[in-house]
Amino acid sequence: MTQDERLHFDPKMLDIMAEVCIKFGLNLQNKQDLIITSTVESLPLVRRIVEEAYRAGAGVVTTLLSDEEISLAKYRYGNEESFDRAPEWMFKGMAEAFENNTARLAISADNPMLLSGQNPERVSRLGKAMSIASKPAMEKITNFETNWNIVSYPGSKWAKQVFPELSEEGAVKKLAEAIFSASRINGKDPIGELRAHHSNLKKRQKWLNDYSFKSLHYTGPGTDLIIGLADGHAWKGGASMAKNGIICSPNIPTEEVFTTPHADRVDGYVKATKPLVYRGTLIEGIEVRFEKGKIVEARTSLGEEVFLQMLETDDGSRRLGEVALVPHSSPISQSGILFYNTLYDENAACHIALGQCYSKCFTEEISLDKEAVKKSGGNSSMIHVDWMIGSGELNIDGITPDGDIVPIFRNGEWVEEI
Ligand code: ZN
Ligand code: ZN
Repeated sequence: MTQDERLHFDPKMLDIMAEVCIKFGLNLQNKQDLIITSTVESLPLVRRIVEEAYRAGAGVVTTLLSDEEISLAKYRYGNEESFDRAPEWMFKGMAEAFENNTARLAISADNPMLLSGQNPERVSRLGKAMSIASKPAMEKITNFETNWNIVSYPGSKWAKQVFPELSEEGAVKKLAEAIFSASRINGKDPIGELRAHHSNLKKRQKWLNDYSFKSLHYTGPGTDLIIGLADGHAWKGGASMAKNGIICSPNIPTEEVFTTPHADRVDGYVKATKPLVYRGTLIEGIEVRFEKGKIVEARTSLGEEVFLQMLETDDGSRRLGEVALVPHSSPISQSGILFYNTLYDENAACHIALGQCYSKCFTEEISLDKEAVKKSGGNSSMIHVDWMIGSGELNIDGITPDGDIVPIFRNGEWVEEI
């Protein structure tokens, strides 16, 4: 059997995914270098992407592959000291590459439960060491200094987590279909459809920016929350221009418009509407209360230890770095599938993220100046963790600088037609 014959879905979809990723997601330029990270299981897609990249005139394409058994070997046999260290040299090299205009592609296919059976304290220590080591590289991405993109591949363990009742073959097939349809690449003209979708996201973005709301008021079951927005914040969504001048679309799929909340101006309580998978642990039933931007009370019905440890990461991990609006009618939400993967689940519902803000979600003069981002209320942290607070019962009002109240969402949907 050839490798393609062993796939449990139409291999042609991988050709389309590779083309969409290089031409639309990354918009890779002639002679531009590219770094790809992926699991070994995604090789059928990685190989196609590398071919597509070179056909598009890529410079040097470098692939960094990870493997589940290799990751687990550390937990089984690694010494204690190894849980406090990560390969700094590698991330420094990546940061240097991004500085020199290298594009970045991540293929997500990971088993969301990979680390669920491991000691949470070790998981947290290693996670922290990785966050510290990867900061130079991650900053370049969150500051949008180069064009980047994330796409997915239907990994078998991931598929079984999403569809536990199916055989592995059936689960992979179903997850593959869900990925291709959520990514809007299963139609006749995927790139054309994606362009139209992104132009709608741009219209939403403009509508929100024209109001320049001071804060958003969320109400719903278990939720009454005021999120103050950062001074000089800007809403973003869909394709946009990275600081290297290349227009790219970082997430495939994407349904959100999002901006930066003010790190000190969040008050009230909020209840998550979907589970969160954080470092291989399932966290359910998150309920938190904010005071002056900071989480002062937190509990969950499952995975509480890991959630509380995450909040302890650093000074910024109890504060918000992102607020995003996604209608309940989004295709991912309508699929009713819980993906256990942030790229998908965050595009199914309105969400907030604890931790690092995106400096690109500010007016241009602020976004280029680190100090100005901080002064305007942009949060900074080693983590950026999205979790879902949207549902068909969520209402959101915008409060203008003059104190006027503008309904934005009713029962999980945009009020205003565009
Ligand atoms: Zn988001
Ligand atoms: Zn986010």
